[in-house]
Amino acid sequence: MRTFALLKPEIVTYPSLCWQVLEKTLTAGLEVTRARKTTLTLAEAGKLYAAHKDKFFYERLIRHITSGPVIALELQTGDSTGGDPVARWRQLLGPTKVYRTAYESPNSLRGAFGLTDTRNVGHGSDSPQSVADESALFFDTLTPTNDDACRPSKSD
Ligand code: ADP
Ligand code: MG
Repeated sequence: MRTFALLKPEIVTYPSLCWQVLEKTLTAGLEVTRARKTTLTLAEAGKLYAAHKDKFFYERLIRHITSGPVIALELQTGDSTGGDPVARWRQLLGPTKVYRTAYESPNSLRGAFGLTDTRNVGHGSDSPQSVADESALFFDTLTPTNDDACRPSKSD
């Protein structure tokens, strides 16, 4: 069983942050089975966040997720730890609203690196169906790009 995770642009833009997030992910017993760096078009972002189309924060969310590179990850729980990777990744991410991390989970990814409710580090599928849909969107459907995971997009 696997889950689908996405690192948002405020992390992927900075290689050092990106590596810290990946290190915490591996330390939490999650293994990366597929990874892909890409930059979403508005249409692709709309598919990922279709469930939030009518929310007040939708436009802000789409503007942010298309503002720079993202890294899609397929994760599984390692043999020694087992357990549900969907719950494990969401627990590692922490609460959606970053202010809540202060008393709920300061050591979560959002507790350590979250800036705002929009720039809150990452995304995690929340059900077996969303794992299937979101993995298919990122690994089977998107137009290939030359982006390379965890490297800066420009060499300047
Ligand atoms: P999660 O990413 O924790 O699964 P949701 O699926 O509810 O959270 O929302 C998707 C994304 O929309 C969140 O990661 C966050 O960036 C944004 N979002 C959700 N709720 C709010 C909110 N109340 N204000 C601003 N942005 C929000
Ligand atoms: Mg969600």
